[in-house]
Amino acid sequence: MTIINEQFTVNTEGNTDIIDITKQVQNFVYQQGLKDALVCVSIQGSTSAVTTIEYEPGLVKDLKEALEKVAPSAQEYHHDEIWHDGNGYAHIRSALMGSSVCIALKDGLLNLGTWQQIILLDFDNKPRSRCVTVQIIS
Ligand code: ZN
Repeated sequence: MTIINEQFTVNTEGNTDIIDITKQVQNFVYQQGLKDALVCVSIQGSTSAVTTIEYEPGLVKDLKEALEKVAPSAQEYHHDEIWHDGNGYAHIRSALMGSSVCIALKDGLLNLGTWQQIILLDFDNKPRSRCVTVQIIS
């Protein structure tokens, strides 16, 4: 078994910024010239997430609105009573969305649909610099 790691940084605006990172992941994975592997994309931080979506403006807006309903930003959170950082909602959204996604590499291609992109979500209440790790297991 071989494990290859790569990291890259993404600067975000915070406040449920949703960024397409598919190209960065594809570029690194396809440089390796592998046929079959497991590709895991993960992010550090408890106010961010990684998942996949059809990255088009309508759906990006829909996802932001859905998350606002699930964990409203104006609501009081116990976390904020303790830490006073005002980002309780961001931690909830992060926990629900998850901090990693694994994608199979089959016959040299990432197993993503035509309209499926890998996205980074930053829920924190300020701009952040996020470290994304791509780990290839083959
Ligand atoms: Zn916090």
